[in-house]
Amino acid sequence: DVLSSDYHIDRKQIHMIESLGNGQFGEVYRGMLKTAQQLEINIAIKTCKMQDSETTEAFLEEAYVMQKFDHPHIIKLIGVCTEHPVLLIMELARLGELRAYLVANRSDFDVVTLVLYCEQLASALEYLEAKKFVHRDIAARNVLVSNHESIKLADFGLSRQLTLDNAYYKASKGKLPIKWMAPESINFRRFTHLSDVWMFGVCMWEIITMGKKPFQGVANTDVIDQIENGVRLPLPGAYCPKRLFDLLQECWSYEPTNRPSFLQIESCLKSILNEERLNSNS
Ligand code: ATP
Repeated sequence: DVLSSDYHIDRKQIHMIESLGNGQFGEVYRGMLKTAQQLEINIAIKTCKMQDSETTEAFLEEAYVMQKFDHPHIIKLIGVCTEHPVLLIMELARLGELRAYLVANRSDFDVVTLVLYCEQLASALEYLEAKKFVHRDIAARNVLVSNHESIKLADFGLSRQLTLDNAYYKASKGKLPIKWMAPESINFRRFTHLSDVWMFGVCMWEIITMGKKPFQGVANTDVIDQIENGVRLPLPGAYCPKRLFDLLQECWSYEPTNRPSFLQIESCLKSILNEERLNSNS
């Protein structure tokens, strides 16, 4: 894996401002980057606590992946400081994590904005599908909010490999995101574009419920039994467009090949979005 030299950043250009939270490898900060043209850019800075070469390499994997993407709804890699301590510099999403944002602003959301978020994520996932990338951890906790009208997919720590490895188990706080996972991922550790579609269905459900937790109160070990028995997440609310609820059911087809592709999902969401915009104006 190599990083294009365009991405190398001198530490002197970076100014850390405040901590945003803790990531898998270390603290994440908000900061500023001064460009060669003396422009100041808002950035997010990921740090890596452990500095052995194995950890550093695993940490940099996310940068190797992110540099391949250029999409309005995917967080952009700005650069990397490769001298120790290694830093990963990314575009800042000013309003933070989507789930927290949805919960904090419940009373302000209209269906149009919620469907817009789903459509934006679908366009990002369609882009990844075309590039043959499987994300494997699509959930509202991995989506960030830039402004009220724009969300971005983040967290590419898991997206590089198609097979599950030990790093994955250790990765997400020692837990697999069972409640988001497709049955074939739970049963056979099979991750494909079609298992991403299932996960995206759960993520759309989180969005449309404005931050409810899927299968709350159900033990991880019982989730797969429920799915095998045909149980699915409930209708998010009376305000959820019928066509969107139908789309969720399709994403949760037990048989992966019965699920729609991201291309189909995106076009369906565009059409629902147009319909909801017309409804809200009438
Ligand atoms: P995990 O696997 O546990 O999610 P991680 O290493 O992927 O960890 P993040 O969860 O992405 O780390 O980051 C930790 C915190 O920093 C989160 O609260 C997240 O909201 C915030 N954060 C990360 N990247 C950005 C960004 N580009 N803009 C704004 N906030 C960010």
